[in-house]
Amino acid sequence: MNKKSIQAFHRRLHRWYGAHGRKDLPWRHTADPYAIYVSEIMLQQTQVATVLERYYFPFLKRFPTLAKLAAARQDNVLAAWHGLGYYNRATNLHKAAQKIVSRDLALGIRHWGEEMSTLMPNAQSLIPNLLALPGIGRNTAHAIAAFAYRQPVAVMEANVRRVLSRIFALETPSEPELWDKAQLLLDKAEPFDYNQAMMDVGALVCRKRAPLCGQCPANSMCKGKTSPESYPALKSKKTPPVRRKSIVLLRNAEGKYYATPRKSRFLNGLYHFVEMDTPPPLKSKELGHIRQQYSHFTLEAAILLMEAEHGNKGKNWYTLAQLKKLPVSMAEKKILELL
Ligand code: SF4
Repeated sequence: MNKKSIQAFHRRLHRWYGAHGRKDLPWRHTADPYAIYVSEIMLQQTQVATVLERYYFPFLKRFPTLAKLAAARQDNVLAAWHGLGYYNRATNLHKAAQKIVSRDLALGIRHWGEEMSTLMPNAQSLIPNLLALPGIGRNTAHAIAAFAYRQPVAVMEANVRRVLSRIFALETPSEPELWDKAQLLLDKAEPFDYNQAMMDVGALVCRKRAPLCGQCPANSMCKGKTSPESYPALKSKKTPPVRRKSIVLLRNAEGKYYATPRKSRFLNGLYHFVEMDTPPPLKSKELGHIRQQYSHFTLEAAILLMEAEHGNKGKNWYTLAQLKKLPVSMAEKKILELL
């Protein structure tokens, strides 16, 4: 692939984006790096339509600046994230905000979402500074650099990954190989439009199944177009294991239930009840069963109610109405419906 053919591809891609790109997405109409950061984190594991319809605007309304996000309680951040799943994204976003405002991390970044948000950080240090924040990997750092600061770096989310694998006919590409190809094709003069266009080509044309090669701006250079669905090769999916537990709802004499926030990487900060791998305690009463599918396991749990005999005072006891306002995962939501 020589320089001329890449330049011709850029022209076709920009024309295609002008005619078909999703230019109405709100995070494409802001130069506020904080808003772009929030959108990038939300979009990591969630479809554009869901983020757009239910989460992006309410989150920014509740936490309009990085400083306001940093000052918020974790419970409130998780509540605003409720339903989006992958809650580590929210706790990392919160931690990153606190890190930025407290440590004067990098010129410009600390003012995100405020009047000085357009202050340009040092281009050399921008990406290393972003990568040092919790929850920011190379793709997110590049997306913020390219979309907020027009830095000449490529993004590579799932759609772009697929487009690159097909253009270069890569069955099992390694990460460095994909990043090399991404940087090779990048239009360094127009990194904003180029990257948005590549994501849109992946989402709208070079779809996972039945790609529309006849409408694709990469058609003439694409090495994988005769058998697009072979690239990248499908990974064999293992059935996630089933984890069986007893979940005990301890209730005190005042009718309050015991719940604590998780302190684990998985569902960190979300409230949960007492979980046991052993058979249910003798004095408990069964309320029902729940089943919850997570990305890496399926939870099957017997839900048990048990009257607390001692140690039933303190800050971790909540009424049912209070529990319903706490940030909880889908499994706990199902449990609360049994009460
Ligand atoms: S020509 Fe087909 S396979 Fe190649 S990038 Fe375009 S849509 Fe994908």
